[in-house]
Amino acid sequence: MGKYQKHPLRANRVAVLRGLLRSYGRARRTFAQILSAEVKSRLALAKARRYGDAKRDPRTPPSLAHRLAELEVPADVYHSLIAQARKHLHLAHRWSRLRKRALGLERLTSYDNTPLGAKIDQRYSYAQAQRLVERALRPLGKRYLRHWRRGMRPGSGWVDVLPSRGKYPQNYLLGAPGMPHPFLLLNFRGDHQSLLLYAHEGGHAMHSFFSQRHQAGPQGSTERFLDEVASQTNECLVSAYLLRQARTPEARLAYLARAAGQFAGKVFRMAYYAELELAIHQHVERHDGITAKALDTLNLKLLRRYAGHHQGARAVTKEWRNSWAWIPHLYRSFKLFRYATSFVTAHALAERILRKGFGPSYVKRFLSAGSSKEPMVLLRELAVDLRGGGAYTAAFAQLARYLDAIEALLRRRGRRPGR
Ligand SMILES: [Zn+2]
Repeated sequence: MGKYQKHPLRANRVAVLRGLLRSYGRARRTFAQILSAEVKSRLALAKARRYGDAKRDPRTPPSLAHRLAELEVPADVYHSLIAQARKHLHLAHRWSRLRKRALGLERLTSYDNTPLGAKIDQRYSYAQAQRLVERALRPLGKRYLRHWRRGMRPGSGWVDVLPSRGKYPQNYLLGAPGMPHPFLLLNFRGDHQSLLLYAHEGGHAMHSFFSQRHQAGPQGSTERFLDEVASQTNECLVSAYLLRQARTPEARLAYLARAAGQFAGKVFRMAYYAELELAIHQHVERHDGITAKALDTLNLKLLRRYAGHHQGARAVTKEWRNSWAWIPHLYRSFKLFRYATSFVTAHALAERILRKGFGPSYVKRFLSAGSSKEPMVLLRELAVDLRGGGAYTAAFAQLARYLDAIEALLRRRGRRPGR
């Protein structure tokens, strides 16, 4: 579906997405019943394990309390994500207004995903990608790079690089205590996306490698709540490197827009999912189930709030109300919020790695820690505060800087003759 959402012809994007929404819409009552039953079973299971007792936090349904207890994370972390995203929604809306202006549209809708700036169509061989990513990861220190180089070399036994017939088409990392080293399955296709995925999966691999090297037995496995941090930190470092290297204003605009878009996708979109899922569980608990109509209402309200529908940012037409039906993660119990918290953590770490020479400490104190400490203890030691606003304030300030830079470039572009 991602391919069609970005199709260059708007009419095609609209036709495909509308068709999809209509198909899901036709089965929405069935989906609602399945989802309702699933959430009810999660609630019942959590209550059986005494997560629904009298002392409970009224904001946190037992199913969420259960999930957070498994991750060893306090409820504040979940609620903070939602509160902080809401508090900074004006930035998401500003980003949409900028896009609207840059694309010359009267009205920006969910069908207008055209990228800004020059097309990022640079191609890389695997050897070129290796060199580029190594340069981007240099701030992590010599030790990190030495092991990275050894592992990422074709023939090292760690990595299978190219797509081939019958190979699982995704990018994937397998690393667990007792294995001789991490196993990386890539499908490197030579485009920008492949470059970032290479840095991402490599980040997972090094996290697993260092943790197993420094921790005994099962403590060598990574913390589930934090296991997207190392990969996203690498992505942040590569994005920052590409931005520094961009030569023309159009290339700079493209990389900045990509970074802002990534931010919106990883933080605001995941916060919307987190809020929707929470609202569904609360509704099911209160009413002993949920109907398709109630799901539509909840979903449209949240979609519009996050998009800035009433603030002239991005319009969400009514036909999007049943888009909840295609979110498979709603059946997997509070899985997605970790992507947002990891992204915010990665941003905080990458900034210190780039500006304050924190790379070697990050390798020692985070990548090598495995699950020897609870996630909140690890985060406290890294001075990343996900319970209050600390890490969020820093991350959103970075987004604001991207937007300032995009705005300045667009202003300059507007002044150029012939535009
Ligand atoms: Zn990952």
